[in-house]
Amino acid sequence: MRHGLFVLSLCLALISFSEAQRSHNTSRSSDPPARLSGPAISAMQKVDPERIRAHVRFLADDLLEGRGTGQRGGDLAAEYIATQFALYGLKPVGDNGTFMQRVPLVGITPEPETTFSFVPASGKTVHLKPLDEYVAYDQTQQAQSDVDAEIVYVGYGIEAPEYKWDDYKGIDVRGKVLLMLVNEPSSDDPDFFKGKALTYYGRWTYKYEEAARKGAAGAILIHRTEMASYPWEVVRNSNSGEKSYLKLEATPALKVASWIQFEVAKQLAKTAGMDIDKMMNDAQSRDFHAVALPVRLRAHMVSKIRPFESNNVLAELPGADRNLRNEAVMYTAHYDHLGIRPDMPGDNIYNGANDNATGCGILLEIARAYAEAPQRPRRSILFASVTAEEQGLLGSEYLGKHPPLPASKISLDLNYDDVPPLGSPEEVEVSGAERTNFYPSIQALAQTFRLKIRPDSRPAAGHYYRSDHFSLARVGIPAFSINEGVKYKGHDAAWGEQQAAEFTEKHYHQPSDEYYPSMDFTGDAVMARFGFALGWEAAAQMKEVSWVKGDEFEKNRLTSMGAMQ
Ligand SMILES: [Zn+2]
Repeated sequence: MRHGLFVLSLCLALISFSEAQRSHNTSRSSDPPARLSGPAISAMQKVDPERIRAHVRFLADDLLEGRGTGQRGGDLAAEYIATQFALYGLKPVGDNGTFMQRVPLVGITPEPETTFSFVPASGKTVHLKPLDEYVAYDQTQQAQSDVDAEIVYVGYGIEAPEYKWDDYKGIDVRGKVLLMLVNEPSSDDPDFFKGKALTYYGRWTYKYEEAARKGAAGAILIHRTEMASYPWEVVRNSNSGEKSYLKLEATPALKVASWIQFEVAKQLAKTAGMDIDKMMNDAQSRDFHAVALPVRLRAHMVSKIRPFESNNVLAELPGADRNLRNEAVMYTAHYDHLGIRPDMPGDNIYNGANDNATGCGILLEIARAYAEAPQRPRRSILFASVTAEEQGLLGSEYLGKHPPLPASKISLDLNYDDVPPLGSPEEVEVSGAERTNFYPSIQALAQTFRLKIRPDSRPAAGHYYRSDHFSLARVGIPAFSINEGVKYKGHDAAWGEQQAAEFTEKHYHQPSDEYYPSMDFTGDAVMARFGFALGWEAAAQMKEVSWVKGDEFEKNRLTSMGAMQ
């Protein structure tokens, strides 16, 4: 059965590659179209769904204890992946000639001694209740910090020269506490904050980062369900108990990184003699000016600090071309999941079969296919299985800050996260790929694979900013994830949508995300071959992949290139 499929798909690939080249030659790309060579095609055909199954079955076994970051099971998974890389004969590019790149992390838990109060110029101090009214973390990673500073309302807290938008307009916010809205100015104009789609400026992580860059002591985000696209419970649940961070390097950090309930914000505005609706309205305008409130934040932050570590697993296949081998194409997939909850009754192991043993199985098969190829691609190929994705993309963030080659020399990152083993896909999702000048090649290859490119169904949700490829995009590397769409052979799209909805509802981030023998890894193998072909072509073409002009990450690329000179 498998053998038959193999031969059939090889024929399809061979027939349709000539088609792809034809459509390629008519594209406007300045690069001469690269040809996927015979050796590349035969290497690609070695990707075996049953090998992906074997990796998933092992990585999702109860013995791996849910592959928790900084836990024994996570370390075992990293060792397993490193061992596979070694068996394939790949070069270790982690620390000190090993496959492991140490990622220093810090767990922070706010202690009950923490206080958080609004002190108006006149009138009574308001002490806020943790979790019900506010959540706050001390990002300086100190056991204790004190803040007593003026609160300044900065609207959306965005500085975006490409949209001629600046909520800070020349004000000095050093040492201040910034009160701001989540999301971004609303618009239908695709040239203004990408219309309905969310840009990174709308994400809460950006707000904290920008405030810290400007030297603020703290930031208070106003939560409103419609604006955040999730209820207070989500903020509350993801901000209670220990939270992990990368160990602070030389970057500035906030003593108070916080959210408040909308009702609290309303009250705060009233205390300041202002009106919350008017404040929110004012923020919609380009002419918005920051306003200092006659209210101070007085916070005493007490935190439990727990340093720990985990590893990214890094390997390289050096390229064949003497002039191009100092550049690379990178593949990523996170191996960590949520670990084990010993205090929980019943099944308490978060096996993470779909999320993301599947991505690891795919990454390993791609690595093997490259390693066994009769010929090497021109550029080098990097394989990175990263840690701490579930803690907030931390392993990939560390990788972006400490890449094995300079970020400007990494042409492209292709990421895999949670590729459901549901059979043979007729669609592929490559959201974010259209932001790169590699897109025409991707379209041509998708056609070759008889895969329809499925557009992002909810751009307003900002999924692009919630997966590991984003960590690499933010250091300028063109990056996106590859996944199946919802249409599978033998089923209609509604079936696929239902499978996805059911997984999200019942198994996503639950102990029941487990391996079953009935899983069909055909689609995972197709995604692996498709990614192999994309990576090979990117590794072969004359120029590195770049962002399309004006993309929000273009300046990061230029910065990384400037840093090279
Ligand atoms: Zn994942």
